[in-house]
Amino acid sequence: MSKIQVMDEVLANKIAAGEVVERCMNVVKELVENAIDAKSKEIHIDLIDSGVKEIKVTDDGIGMDREDAELAFSRHATSKLKQIDDLFHIDSLGFRGEALPSIASVSDVTLKTSNGESGTELHISGGNFLSVESGELRQGTSILVKDLFYNTPVRLKYLKNLYTELSYITEYVHKMALSYPEIKFVLTNNQKVLLNTDGSGRLLKVIHDIYGLSVTKKMIEIQGENDDYEISGYISYPEIQKSNKNAITLLINGRYIKNNEIIRMITDSYHTYMPPDKYPIVVLKIDVDPILIDVNVHPTKMDIKFSKMDTLKELIQAVIKKELERLTLIPDASLETTVEGLETKISTNYAPTRQEEFDAKKKEEEFQAFEKMTLNLEQNPSYEVQEENRPLTTNFNQEEKEEKSLPQKKEARIKQMYPVGLVHGTYVIAENEDGMFLIDQHAANERINYEYYLEQLSNPNPVQMDLLIPITLEFPTNEYLILKENFELLTKMGFVFEEFGLQTIAIRTVPIWLPKGNEERAIQKIIEIIIEKESFDMERFVHRVAATVACKASIKANDHITKEDMEVLLERLRNCENPFTCPHGRPTIITYSKYDLEKLFKRSM
Ligand code: ZN
Ligand code: ZN
Repeated sequence: MSKIQVMDEVLANKIAAGEVVERCMNVVKELVENAIDAKSKEIHIDLIDSGVKEIKVTDDGIGMDREDAELAFSRHATSKLKQIDDLFHIDSLGFRGEALPSIASVSDVTLKTSNGESGTELHISGGNFLSVESGELRQGTSILVKDLFYNTPVRLKYLKNLYTELSYITEYVHKMALSYPEIKFVLTNNQKVLLNTDGSGRLLKVIHDIYGLSVTKKMIEIQGENDDYEISGYISYPEIQKSNKNAITLLINGRYIKNNEIIRMITDSYHTYMPPDKYPIVVLKIDVDPILIDVNVHPTKMDIKFSKMDTLKELIQAVIKKELERLTLIPDASLETTVEGLETKISTNYAPTRQEEFDAKKKEEEFQAFEKMTLNLEQNPSYEVQEENRPLTTNFNQEEKEEKSLPQKKEARIKQMYPVGLVHGTYVIAENEDGMFLIDQHAANERINYEYYLEQLSNPNPVQMDLLIPITLEFPTNEYLILKENFELLTKMGFVFEEFGLQTIAIRTVPIWLPKGNEERAIQKIIEIIIEKESFDMERFVHRVAATVACKASIKANDHITKEDMEVLLERLRNCENPFTCPHGRPTIITYSKYDLEKLFKRSM
């Protein structure tokens, strides 16, 4: 190769580096995916200063001979390039081949590799081969990338924000650990262990290693299938609430992807169990015939399309909703499983942390104790949790038919509670043999009303009532035009009205469920929802109307209700389909169990 050709190649690599290697995370990703492709059982990722100073990835995979090692760093090494369509048929994470030379052009790289027969050590700096020598025989590959971007202007940008860099890398390694529970991942930064999984293949153990015990206790195993898809994995109780989607991990045929449509299917399944701006922790594995996947999106963005999105949606929502419906979801006031606790736990991972916390042996013991506990609960037939912790296999297609032929009356999801009194005119105190309960009277009433309005709104023949005096409502032209387009909606709900002047309607008849004495305000709210909607979705519309009217019609805080009212409230709440949250996702009940109380008063230790 002439000198000029080499110069050109170095330049080309440096230019390509700007596109392929945007952050330290891209380097980690490239090296880790190579290690996975090499069938490694154990992958160590060691960073100095979030990877800006040093990234070292060591694996115990198949390794390379000298020829392959050199080839890996030349620009057009096509051996790694894969057809995009193959992406989901093959084991390889593939679709690269240009990243290694690009990385080497903006850093100092030392590669040590051995296939067990011969060892090679290779040193490249700024894209120039400095040396190729024989090396140790340790099976596997180790790549050390030093001073990333040292010869480019972007370097400074990264030096400024080491925590951001580290958070990207950590998130990526978490996803890989969840994707490959059978591979041991160890991630360190400046010698501090940030993640240490055991490669035992237990997904729940990886969840435990990443999120800790309090989250692991609140994970539910799910499973289900229909004609096109098979899904499995873990979802969190609604009381685990994260402020972003990062903890929703999607694995399609074992490959980690990002897909907002599927995330939406999941969060919709938690509708009214959780405030709309909060997200659960979910690891969802979807197995599907590759024929149904359309990989026309850029593979480095880790996104894909499905040709049968609707049946996937049905399956995910049926499985998650069913699982949530089986649970008793009264948050325990004495346990700290709040978002805040979790958030701080994760963020302190980036700061220097006591090494013992990550001691693998301790974690294993903790996990085993937890597993044993759940096992005991499952074996004890008198214990209620038995039913709840078992994974649910739903054959959706079949279940649907059965449900249609046999509409069944659901049993109350919580035991009867007896009111004791009222605190601050807002919280009902109640008790039963299990413990003490605090019930938010507005939230509880809102839930009861919400389910009532939902039922009324889905009645195709609403019972109507004539108003003594018609209600007239006037709107600005732009709003009136949207309303006019949707008159049919009002008619369907049971309103009878006529246009009156240019932008006014006069309502003469209303559905009987409209809250008495509050008719005008309720109608205004409903029309506001009609006017502000962007893309129309009937299900969402009905939910919003029911939630809004329910809020209007419910007792407020500081309303001193009588004990008889409390009894009725608790009994009706108990019989709700979801008695645990108001339609906005806030809790209706919290509890101190009998055991919690005894512990708090040191009656039992
Ligand atoms: Zn409200
Ligand atoms: Zn509410």
